[in-house]
Amino acid sequence: MPLNRATSAEINLDAFRYNLRIIKSLVGLNTETMAIIKADAYGHGAVQCARAAIEEGTKYLGVGIIQEGIELRESGITSPILILGGVYPDELTELIYYNLSTSLSTLALAKAISKEAEQSKKNISVHIKIDTGMGRLGVQCEDFSDLLEHVIGYENITIEGFFTHLANADDVDPKISQEQIVKFSNILKVIKTKKFSKLHNSNKPILIHSANSAGLLRYPESRFNLVRPGISLYGSFPSPVLKPVLDMIKNNNYPALRPVMSWKTKIIQVQTLRKGVPLSYGGSYITKKNKSRIAILPVGYADGLNRRLSNKMEFLVKGMRVKQIGTICMDMCLIDVTELPSVEMGEEVVILGSQGKDNIPIEELADKAETIPYEIFCGISKRVPRVYV
Ligand SMILES: *Cc1c(COP(=O)(O)O)cnc(C)c1O
Repeated sequence: MPLNRATSAEINLDAFRYNLRIIKSLVGLNTETMAIIKADAYGHGAVQCARAAIEEGTKYLGVGIIQEGIELRESGITSPILILGGVYPDELTELIYYNLSTSLSTLALAKAISKEAEQSKKNISVHIKIDTGMGRLGVQCEDFSDLLEHVIGYENITIEGFFTHLANADDVDPKISQEQIVKFSNILKVIKTKKFSKLHNSNKPILIHSANSAGLLRYPESRFNLVRPGISLYGSFPSPVLKPVLDMIKNNNYPALRPVMSWKTKIIQVQTLRKGVPLSYGGSYITKKNKSRIAILPVGYADGLNRRLSNKMEFLVKGMRVKQIGTICMDMCLIDVTELPSVEMGEEVVILGSQGKDNIPIEELADKAETIPYEIFCGISKRVPRVYV
């Protein structure tokens, strides 16, 4: 992995901490936070973000796959970590060894867990996941009671929590989310009938959770006693529907959320070309002026600059917007700096973030690439070193 490179992503951990504090103050003291740092903290660096979250008093961490949990343990993080996406039976040895908790939604996995726990004479912690309408992982509501009975029967399985996931929390129409929350609340009533509270380690509350960023921002009733913010910690929001909510929680002169990542590069060459010259693969752009000044940037789709952004996006140079032109290549792309005659090799160029008075937000890049901020963040590849400030 390159340590030093002109193309890099600057990660502002103060902004990350700020966002976390906003979320915590919004949900109040009776609701815990599980910082979601899957996919290398949405490309921001899982270990660094985990440490910052822990320093801010966050007790719980959530990741997508067991390998991400192992990475955190190997770096010395001891907080409870939930594997949101669940595990395979052949990963249970590692789950125990690294003291991780898994999401559980099938009897087959419950059996495998109990067997593995028995062999190693250890307990395994789980959060039972209920599918209330996401149509993805989780036990169906009608099968929940049966699964719960079995899991309670396995003394070496510790139930740490129950959770579900909202499918439409960022929709304008609240109907589906509200229905999911009602279904989940009904499931919680089943839990109470099981005299289940006797069966768990009573000095820790059972964690009940359903809210991702959109859920916790829009539906206080989805927060229960734990929320699972991801994208909001990185200063973005799931969809424009959230914008008014965020404007409402603005703090004096501060925005509700601060962007954490800025992505920068430096010009590697400037060409002066006559009018009519086709640029880059396929010549999708032809210079429009004599003495066109075209700057070459060492950033391309191998770095996560989506090729669909070709001829659509803008960059910041000297605080001014300039157009990206021609097809984005694997390692390079081009910008038109004809209007900026003083720009030479080595000049800083901002892909994402602010420079001078202007700013390119992640939402702008996502819109132009016809995707969501999540995918842009996750797509910024390992080749782009993360620099922490
Ligand atoms: C990714 C994820 C989250 C976080 O979602 P955001 O929209 O990024 O806040 C929460 N819960 C689960 C189960 C997830 O997979």
